[in-house]
Amino acid sequence: MISVVVPIISANIIIYLTDSMFYQLLMMASVLCLLEMLRSMLNYFSRYYSMVIFRESFIKIQTALGKNILRLENKVIDSNSSGVFIQRLTSDTSRLADIFNVLNLYLSRILINFGIFIAVFIINFWAFIYLIVMVLVLYLIERRRVRIYNSKDKEFRKQNEKVTGFVSEIVRGLRNIKMLHSEDSFSSELHGQVEELNQSRYLMMQVNNRYNCLRFCLQDIFHLGLIFLLVYLITMGNLAVANGLVIHNYQGRVTSIIDILGMLLQSIKDFNLSCSRVFAIMYSDQFSKEKFGSRHLDKVNGDFCFSHVNFHYDSNNRKVLDDLSFEVHANETVAFVGKSGAGKSTIFNLLCKMYDVDSGSITIDGVDISLLDKESIRGNITIISQSPYIFHLSIRENLRLVQPDMTEDEMINACKLACIHEFIMSLPDGYDTVVGEGGVNLSGGQRQRLAIARAFLQKTEIILFDEATSALDNETQREIQKAISNLQKDYTILIIAHRLSTIINSDRILFIEDGKIVGEGRHKELLKKCPSYRELYEAELKNNE
Ligand code: ATP
Repeated sequence: MISVVVPIISANIIIYLTDSMFYQLLMMASVLCLLEMLRSMLNYFSRYYSMVIFRESFIKIQTALGKNILRLENKVIDSNSSGVFIQRLTSDTSRLADIFNVLNLYLSRILINFGIFIAVFIINFWAFIYLIVMVLVLYLIERRRVRIYNSKDKEFRKQNEKVTGFVSEIVRGLRNIKMLHSEDSFSSELHGQVEELNQSRYLMMQVNNRYNCLRFCLQDIFHLGLIFLLVYLITMGNLAVANGLVIHNYQGRVTSIIDILGMLLQSIKDFNLSCSRVFAIMYSDQFSKEKFGSRHLDKVNGDFCFSHVNFHYDSNNRKVLDDLSFEVHANETVAFVGKSGAGKSTIFNLLCKMYDVDSGSITIDGVDISLLDKESIRGNITIISQSPYIFHLSIRENLRLVQPDMTEDEMINACKLACIHEFIMSLPDGYDTVVGEGGVNLSGGQRQRLAIARAFLQKTEIILFDEATSALDNETQREIQKAISNLQKDYTILIIAHRLSTIINSDRILFIEDGKIVGEGRHKELLKKCPSYRELYEAELKNNE
């Protein structure tokens, strides 16, 4: 409101100045001073609060989006590049919250210039009409620029997600890239992608350039036209020279309205685009969330059963599990054996409800896992994967993650059972040694034994152990075997075995081929009745010779 009033008062001061009315002039100048002071103060507070709103909304939106990403179905995660999530979580959320900052700024600047229109209207009607026509024409050009710019921005953001995903893959796979000696091919792929991204950016800039050029040209023509109009009005005696100069001065500020309107339009479109990208993850079916039931089991026994389970990862892909049925009793140790790609890890994935079965059912302690809540499933199962992730923390802190109130004795006991205590004690800082991101300072065998120690501390009834495929030396393999046998009898253990020597003592071995069980029994039984198992065993013996 102050911004509307100030230009009117300024215009009046100039009018009174020409009429030499000193007291009115003095009064208006004092009011103007006061209003300007008040405006500065209000400006300060409005900027301050819009910053607070920006900060609060940014935190809320980013946290809410982060929570939603953590709830996404694995199928969705598999089918999207990590760039989709990184870009939306970082850049889009910040652009979305930014509207609260710019809206305040742009709206107040538009108001300021709106006051100038009233002032011009008071001074001369025809000059007012001329300025309105000028603003409308320039605004239409600006609106078109923003629309085209925005459609290009949509493409740009998609491309940006692709590059971010690729960069994050390079960072994660840096060691492998070096080992594969393929730095050059990754550099040239990155170069290609960045070049494509910059081409999109260049196209956006080109749109801006073309339309701005057109607008500035028209602005200059309008400026010239205004001078002619003012001269005409002055010579016809319809406008005082001083007022003509005032209107001429205001012309620059009126054209700046177009800049501000353009920026406002762009911010609103930008906000809409960011909203659609952020809220798509939160609410659309394209980014579906994991669903769990409501039944809760405090402590499970460890019995479970797969009954006629069929599953495929992607509707275009082949069936990975084909009418698979088997039962495991509490405290049993069961091994899964089969060729690579037979579907062994998939069984583990389904048991933890990382994916939903297509048909059939999986039960834990007789209850279908689709009825159980998340805690009952994942809180009762520990997975020791082929390459367990160890966080960039000390060994003690890594163990504390799964058992926040573990005692020193419990920790040492778990590490002794996992056959890793002696190694930890040989490190300069013992349990306080920081192991590097992803546990880079540890060998594959040490990482698995630390994960076994975590499993001892977690004390879940079901332990899924995916044996490392990489060849471990005999000593490490023996230690891991010893660590697993320390778990046997007290827990239900499922092992995916890549070396049959590890699972000879299992209660039961299931031989999986193309998602089906083709042999079941103890080691000696299977050697007799399952030719595929015998073949695999003989091949392993040959390799060991
Ligand atoms: P390995 O012994 O080599 O670890 P596996 O028996 O554990 O193999 P799975 O990992 O269960 O085999 O994979 C079974 C099949 O499912 C394979 O053909 C694999 O390509 C496919 N597959 C596995 N994970 C996915 C996924 N996330 N998306 C699509 N297909 C997948």
